[in-house]
Amino acid sequence: MIAEVIVDITSSTTDKIFDYSIPDGLDVKVGHRVVVMFGSKKVDGFVINIKETSNYDLDKIKDIVSVKEAQPLLTQNMLRLCFFMKKNFYLRAIDVIKLCLPPIVISGKVKAKYIEYVLPNFQSIPVLSQKAKEQIRLLLFLQERGEVKKEIILKEFSSSTLKNVLQKGFAIIKSVQEDRKPKSTFTVKKKEIVLNKQQQEAVDKITKSKYATYLLHGVTGSGKTEVYINCIKNALKQGKTAIMLVPEISLTPQMFARFRNAFGDTVAILHSNLSQGERFDEWNRIKNKQAKIAIGARSCIFAPIEDLGIIIIDEEHDSSYFSQSNPRFHTHEVAKYLAYLNNCPLVLGSATPSVESYYLASTGEYRLLTLTDRANQKQMPNIEIVDMMLEPMKGNINIFSYRLIAELESCLAQNNQAMIFINRRGYSSFIMCNNCAYVPKCQDCDVSLVYHKEDDMLKCHYCDKRYKKMTVCPKCGSSSIRYGAVGTQRVVDELKKIFDVPIFRLDNDTTRNKNSYAEVLEQFNNTSPSILVGTQMIAKGHDFNNVTLVGIVDADVSLHFSDYRAIERTFQLITQVAGRAGRSDSEGKVVLQTYFPRHYAYRYASTYDYKAFFKREINLREVTKFPPFVHLLRVLVISENFEKAEIVLKNIYDEINFLQQTYSSDFVYLHAMKCPKKRIQKNFRYQIMMRINKKNQATIIPKIYEICDKCKQNKVSIFVEDDPQNLS
Ligand code: ADP
Ligand code: ZN
Ligand code: ZN
Repeated sequence: MIAEVIVDITSSTTDKIFDYSIPDGLDVKVGHRVVVMFGSKKVDGFVINIKETSNYDLDKIKDIVSVKEAQPLLTQNMLRLCFFMKKNFYLRAIDVIKLCLPPIVISGKVKAKYIEYVLPNFQSIPVLSQKAKEQIRLLLFLQERGEVKKEIILKEFSSSTLKNVLQKGFAIIKSVQEDRKPKSTFTVKKKEIVLNKQQQEAVDKITKSKYATYLLHGVTGSGKTEVYINCIKNALKQGKTAIMLVPEISLTPQMFARFRNAFGDTVAILHSNLSQGERFDEWNRIKNKQAKIAIGARSCIFAPIEDLGIIIIDEEHDSSYFSQSNPRFHTHEVAKYLAYLNNCPLVLGSATPSVESYYLASTGEYRLLTLTDRANQKQMPNIEIVDMMLEPMKGNINIFSYRLIAELESCLAQNNQAMIFINRRGYSSFIMCNNCAYVPKCQDCDVSLVYHKEDDMLKCHYCDKRYKKMTVCPKCGSSSIRYGAVGTQRVVDELKKIFDVPIFRLDNDTTRNKNSYAEVLEQFNNTSPSILVGTQMIAKGHDFNNVTLVGIVDADVSLHFSDYRAIERTFQLITQVAGRAGRSDSEGKVVLQTYFPRHYAYRYASTYDYKAFFKREINLREVTKFPPFVHLLRVLVISENFEKAEIVLKNIYDEINFLQQTYSSDFVYLHAMKCPKKRIQKNFRYQIMMRINKKNQATIIPKIYEICDKCKQNKVSIFVEDDPQNLS
């Protein structure tokens, strides 16, 4: 028999399938990882098909050397996904396989953890001389206790006693695999919940459904998670399994606890905060069907699960569902295909669906389900917009408005908690010489350096390079230095000057190590009154009962990005953050500080009018010809050598321009230019932006890939980004 094998050679761009013959006596199945000879080297490969014979010269076909694991690593679903992604995202098969298998599984460095137990051997009747007192004592101990962990025995008895008893066959050793289960320190109270009418309707429709995509639109706190839980319960009842995806940052300890409460050990969690061992075990628990529900971030869509009854993507609008670096793919598209393969429903849930998804729901391609009210019957918190332009006229030059200070005072006086949101970490976004306006920038990147007060350093947020703080301007010698827009550290500093309550901070700098994220959240949860300051990390998923006030220090941070999604993102972020207030019995309140108080993103966010926002935004996209009405494509050309990059850019542009002549009516826009961030980590960055009519995209996009392939040159990287989420 012949096996078709995808070989794992990272250095090469080879994406071919090779035939190897299966030697007699070797049990090779589809999905197995095998060792094969490739040239003169032994490499790993994956068996994707087994056939009778080969088109190649049978004499020249080499044998498979060995099989690496007893069970195949790749599941049926993974193999089919592999071909789907190869075709739709232009990826190499081996790269897709590596998405499916966590590095820890591939490396084979982590092994299952075994615990040894000692138990009496009832088959043999102990014959011992009275002198062997210790051995007799051990046997009596075992007879009384049954099986005992070896480590406990060794505390009570010497190792030679145990050895003797084992050698004589009076006792035996049993090894049991123990799972390193991720511990959740968080506990949430179990609540008996009766679904309301809209929730029940959603659950019923989804449960009955075969393959279809549902968009579950429900305000924050409307009980979407309860809908997911009930749909999953129904899927399990039918003997099926489930995948639920959440953005990495909203995979909070509370979320863990909630699903553990509902499903116990049948749920496995794949999270980047797990230790290697924990991740290995959680993955294996899914693979060997001990766990029937896989919850995790984007890559959990590749969990080794079969027989899916439902796939859920929570916070479906989140940009983390698009992988930005290679291999690039869109999680929604992968999920749709997987749902199709399993003939099961896909549920996209959000309080602020992406404009694309809501558009598809409006055209009938998705089925819309709506939850209109908060489950606790409380109103959404009132959002008060404060015009920061007017504060100086009132004599306030602080970073907090008078309104926000007043609200903070009353919130804390009532022993409640507040969350202060600022989507910028560090102390200030840049520092500047007051005399000559010099701004220190990173040597390797085209960005200004961010001041971090804690380590009194300037840091580049693109490459992490650190620099000494500027105390004297290197250009003009002035020592009058001004701080730019505020970040989380500065907000904490300023709050400390005003309020005498515990203040916690949550951002990328405070959560570098594995457990600090959960620790900060737990401390905050247990401390009232208190304030939590954070970046978008605090915007999602958290459910703190005592939070009655949310302050948004600078809502405009994301409003002016040069990205057609900037306004949508701002609207989404504000709605999400606002949703953190007033989740239990007490009423919530939001103070939003901005220099653009009349912007429609704020107007519709403050009235929680998603539909009005959508209408406005979708009209704009239609008129200006942006997605979802056209397809946006960017070719990125990157090199340390800008001359080389410019040559490659020109070659690609010329070819695409030529293509445009054939398909002139399909190109809405075509332009080559420098990227907004002209240089990152020493690399010069250029781009070709294209907007293409959807009608002919299936013909045009493959041609773009072909062109880029043809124009490849040494030391220049080319990336085709299909609907890029980040246009920096
Ligand atoms: P979402 O996921 O939409 O933000 P959740 O499912 O987290 O909403 O629900 C918000 C809160 O309301 C949770 O504490 C949840 O336990 C509670 N809840 C949800 N549905 C109901 C219901 N039908 N009756 C009572 N409480 C509910
Ligand atoms: Zn200066
Ligand atoms: Zn840098």
